[in-house]
Amino acid sequence: MSDILIESVLQEQRQFPPPPAFSAQARIASLEQYQQLCQEFQADPQGFWAGLAQRELHWFRPWEQVMDWQPPQVRWFVGGQTNLAYNCLDRHLTTSRRTKPAIIWQGEPGDVRTITYEQLHHDVCQMANALKALGVQRGDRVGIYLPLIPEAAMAMLACARIGAAHTVVFGGFSAEALKERLRAAQVKVVVTADGGWRKGAVVPLKPQVDQALADGQVPSVQRVLVVQRVGGCAMTPERDGWWHELQPQMSPDCPAEALDSEELLFILYTSGTTGKPKGIVHTTAGYNLYTHITTQWVFDLQEDDVYWCTADVGWITGHSYVVYGPLSNGATTVMYEGAPHGGNPGCFWDVIQTHKVSIFYTAPTAIRALIKMGVEHPQARDLSSLRLLGTVGEPINPSAWMWYHRVIGGERCPIVDTWWQTETGGMMIAPLPGATPTKPGAATLPLPGIQAQVVDRQGEPVPVNQGGYLVVTHPWPGMMRTVYQDEERYRRTYWEPIPPRDGQHFYFAGDGARRDEDGYFWVMGRVDDVINVAGHRLGTMEIESALVSHPAVAEAAVVGRPDELKGETVVAFVTLERHYQPGDALKQALLAHVVQEIGAIARPSEMTFTDALPKTRSGKIMRRLLRALAAGESPTGDISTLEDRGVLESLRPQPQ
Ligand code: ATP
Ligand code: MG
Repeated sequence: MSDILIESVLQEQRQFPPPPAFSAQARIASLEQYQQLCQEFQADPQGFWAGLAQRELHWFRPWEQVMDWQPPQVRWFVGGQTNLAYNCLDRHLTTSRRTKPAIIWQGEPGDVRTITYEQLHHDVCQMANALKALGVQRGDRVGIYLPLIPEAAMAMLACARIGAAHTVVFGGFSAEALKERLRAAQVKVVVTADGGWRKGAVVPLKPQVDQALADGQVPSVQRVLVVQRVGGCAMTPERDGWWHELQPQMSPDCPAEALDSEELLFILYTSGTTGKPKGIVHTTAGYNLYTHITTQWVFDLQEDDVYWCTADVGWITGHSYVVYGPLSNGATTVMYEGAPHGGNPGCFWDVIQTHKVSIFYTAPTAIRALIKMGVEHPQARDLSSLRLLGTVGEPINPSAWMWYHRVIGGERCPIVDTWWQTETGGMMIAPLPGATPTKPGAATLPLPGIQAQVVDRQGEPVPVNQGGYLVVTHPWPGMMRTVYQDEERYRRTYWEPIPPRDGQHFYFAGDGARRDEDGYFWVMGRVDDVINVAGHRLGTMEIESALVSHPAVAEAAVVGRPDELKGETVVAFVTLERHYQPGDALKQALLAHVVQEIGAIARPSEMTFTDALPKTRSGKIMRRLLRALAAGESPTGDISTLEDRGVLESLRPQPQ
């Protein structure tokens, strides 16, 4: 028993073939077509990527070598020169996309801006010239700390245009977390705003920047560029300047620099779900190609789509699938500043109805929150413009998948459950909506060009339906290049956990997964979170999904607690749907439900009802904090990414 790495106990047999009407219009319309792409890659991996790079991107200079793989270091399109901002903007201006909306933005108070490709190009050039005027040169780092407003995308593109690297820090982070990230990247200029709107209130941002920079704590920062969003803030003379004052002085002429393929594009910190966030490094050409092509494939992007990804630009999803992937493809990308909350539970559905969104991409955490808010909100809106739905960020519980499919997708929209990470740059395992039959809770199959496997510690593939470690065995263009200024951490975290064998190297993702009889990948949770009960190693996803499949449960997290007899026992934290009251009877019913769904082995020994679970600011459940609480310890380690410290306090054992 103990040689099984992670045991699967979940029974999930439902299957949804791509709707024929969808496939009929799709770019990749059948499994055969998908398999053909995979075979093209197999036959000639470098030729496969080179062909796409040639066809899909503009090059100022062709590359000399497609891939240079010196494990674990990789370089793509070596010797070539391109520019991500050029690919996202300039090349569309000579086509009918010139007057097409590039960004449709809606502020939380309801203000709307529609920015065409031509206008976006104009503004990005001005912003690039402004950065130059503030002293930014090719190779410098720029910090971006903004609400979700168009200027966030403009600042990113402006950096990419002149060869400065950006490091975007989510606007919800504290001054302390901001300071750490600005210091680590030796940022020269910070682009921020006076504040933004969040859940019905103004969130000040500039005061956080002032605090982070106070007393020369980040000596590298020379200037701060401030966007006016909420009415003003204190300014430090000499250091700070208003964007709206600078912009009119800036020329809209700023040719895109021809940048080397491997030019540093950005540094971005991971969500910090499992520990201290890592500064992930991505470079220009490979990242551009990979986010471009995956946007096309997985969202089956068509010219008239209105595409909306709800992520903040402070996360990788915002980088790859709000800004770069969609714009490189000439798509219309929707940005919405707000988030659903008690005062505005239908705001997402309003955005879809108003802007006729056709592709909607969000996170399981948002779906669970929306389920809790009630079906009456989506049902009161016209969602008929939708044709495709997606999820990213965590495994999605099958019952949440079914709700999404039924209530939001009207049973007509395929769902793409996309597995990937900050480190992978773009989506890795995901259905192609016109080709791949979906199963609720499965990320399905690796994208063409991605060699993913589930293996044991020795790199040996595990048998069908047994859990193991999710790895990738061939480099891909969007792969991270290193941890910023910490090559050692890069090797240790990603390449050493499973040692190379027979010349094969294993990128270790840190997630547990199994493959079923169709070769589908089911992500079972983080390897760090596996619970070992009497020799059975259980992933968190399956037990949580069993709990969530009960009508009373909105959200659940399970962790292991050390136990003398069993090794560990399962401890569950549960939040309830509206109209359900916590109590002993319900607890017994839920325990019986878990036993019935997946067996006695997974039965929690303890269950705590709570109003909320501790989450990262990107909405992921932080099980490591719950694990410490369950063991009666004080949570240690980095909690800078914890969204709400109050949640943790309320879960601490109360002195009797
Ligand atoms: P840290 O690495 O700092 O702990 P993080 O892993 O949460 O933070 P991200 O890069 O934002 O940081 O998230 C990637 C992780 O999110 C994946 O490793 C996986 O655990 C989870 N994930 C993302 N998408 C999916 C998905 N579709 N299904 C299952 N898990 C997913
Ligand atoms: Mg991670």
